[in-house]
Amino acid sequence: MDPLIITLSLGGLALGGAVCYLSPALWKPLAIRRLQARCVRQKVLAITYDDGPGPAVTQELVELLKEFDAPATFFLSGERVIPNADVANGLVRQGHEVGCHGYHHLHAWKNLPGALREDFARGCGAVVSCGAVDPIAFRPPFGKLVFPTWLAAKHRGARLAWWTHDSGDSFAELPGRSPALDLLDAGGGVALLHDLDRSDPRNEFVLATTRALLEGAREKGLRVVRFSDVFA
Ligand SMILES: [Zn+2]
Repeated sequence: MDPLIITLSLGGLALGGAVCYLSPALWKPLAIRRLQARCVRQKVLAITYDDGPGPAVTQELVELLKEFDAPATFFLSGERVIPNADVANGLVRQGHEVGCHGYHHLHAWKNLPGALREDFARGCGAVVSCGAVDPIAFRPPFGKLVFPTWLAAKHRGARLAWWTHDSGDSFAELPGRSPALDLLDAGGGVALLHDLDRSDPRNEFVLATTRALLEGAREKGLRVVRFSDVFA
C-alpha cells in the first residue's frame, strides 16, 4: 500500500480516537444549557460545594443552611471523607445530598483511563460510607471529563453534575461580587462553591455568597433544592 495512504489512515484513526476520547468536553456546553433551562422552568436554585468536607467551613455552612431551612449538595473528595467522617456523615443525616467528586481529585486530561475509573469507584465508595445511596451524582474534578470516566459513571447510573454559575471563590483574585449571584436574575441555576478549609478571605467569601444566594432566592421566590431534585 502507498505509504501516504497508510500515514493518512493512521492519522485519521488517531484523530478519530482523540475526538472520541475527549467527546464529553464537546457535549458539556449543551448539557449546561439544558441544566440552566430546567432550573429556570422549575424556578429552582441548587447550591453545590466541591472538595470538602472542610471541616470547619462545612460546619459553618451547615449552620447557615439550617437558618434558612435549605438543603445543599456536597460533592465530597474521598480522601477528605475519612479524616472528617463525623462531618461527612452529618451531611446526609441533616438532609443534604452528598455526591462523588473522585477520591484524589484527578484531572481527567492528565491521567490514564484505568486510574480515572479506579478513582471514580473509590470516590463513590467513600460517599456511600457516609450514607449516600445510588444513584450518586458525580461532579468531575476540575470539570474535566473523558469518555472512559463518562462510561464508568453511566455504568453506575451516576448523573453528571455540571454547574451553571461559578461563584468565583477559586479565581486567582476574588471578585468583589460573586458571579453566581447572576443566577438570581436569570431565574434559577446551579451554583458552584468550594468548602475545603482555606484561609480568609476565601472562607468568608463562600459564607457570604451562600447567604446572599439564600436571601436572594427567598426574595425572588426561587426554591432551594438539592442537585438531584432538579431532575425529580
Ligand atoms: Zn474540585
